[in-house]
Amino acid sequence: MGCGDKSFNKQAVDRRSFLSVALGWSVITPIAPLFAQLATSRNGSLSKEERDRLTPSQVIEELKKGNERFRTGKMVSRDYRAEQRTSASGQYPAVVILGCLDSRVPAEIIFDAGIGDTFNGRVAGNVVNDDLLGSMEFACAVSGAKVALVLGHTACGAVKGAIDDVVLGNLTGLLARIKPAIPATKFDGEKSSKNAEYVDAVARTNVSLVLLEIRRRSPILEELEKNGTIKIAGAMYDLATGLVDFVG
Ligand SMILES: [Zn+2]
Repeated sequence: MGCGDKSFNKQAVDRRSFLSVALGWSVITPIAPLFAQLATSRNGSLSKEERDRLTPSQVIEELKKGNERFRTGKMVSRDYRAEQRTSASGQYPAVVILGCLDSRVPAEIIFDAGIGDTFNGRVAGNVVNDDLLGSMEFACAVSGAKVALVLGHTACGAVKGAIDDVVLGNLTGLLARIKPAIPATKFDGEKSSKNAEYVDAVARTNVSLVLLEIRRRSPILEELEKNGTIKIAGAMYDLATGLVDFVG
C-alpha cells in the first residue's frame, strides 16, 4: 500500500537491464499499480500523496489484492523498522477497519498491509458504539481515510454468544448490539450456534446492520459517502480459507 523506496526500485530496474543485456532478455518495465508497486517489496509507509490520489474504489481494490497476496502466500517483503521510521512524523492510512476482537482476524496481516496503512478499531462482534463512530469520523473526516470497512468473520464467538443469549458482566450489553441481526436473518435450517452456516449468516446480517447503523448514527460519515469522498463497505473474512469477501 504505497510506493516503495525509489532507490530500491531503481536498483531493481538497473538489475533487470543488466540481466537483459547479459542474457539477451527483452525488458518490460512493469507499470506499478498506484497503491502497491508493493507487490514484491515495500520499504516505507503510505505517504500522503500516495493515499490522496487513490479513489475509495481503488483502496478497496488494493485491499482485495492484499488479501489475495495473503491467501496465496505471496506477501510483500516488508521492513517494519523502515515503516516505523517513515510513519513516525505522520500517518496517512487509506482505510479505517472496524473488525472483531478475534485473535484470528488481524486486519493488517490478512490484507497484507503495513504500519501506517490502516486504522483499526476492534471489538467483539465488530459492532459500533459512539466511541467507535467517533474514531471512524476522525479517520475519515480529519485524517483522510477513503474507506470505512466493517469486517465480520466466520465462526464468530460473539455472534454465537448472541445467539445463545449469553449473560456475563459487561459482555451482556455488548452482545445486545449483535442481537438485532438474529431476527433479521432469513435462514432455513437449524437456527443454533452449533450450526456453522447459521452463525455465519447471522454474522453477515450483523455486518449489513452495522453499515446501516454507521450511516444512521453518523451524519458526518453519511455525508462523506454521499459526496463520494469515502465508501462505507462491509466484508466477511473466512477463517478456513483466508478469503475476505466484500459484501457491499
Ligand atoms: Zn468474532
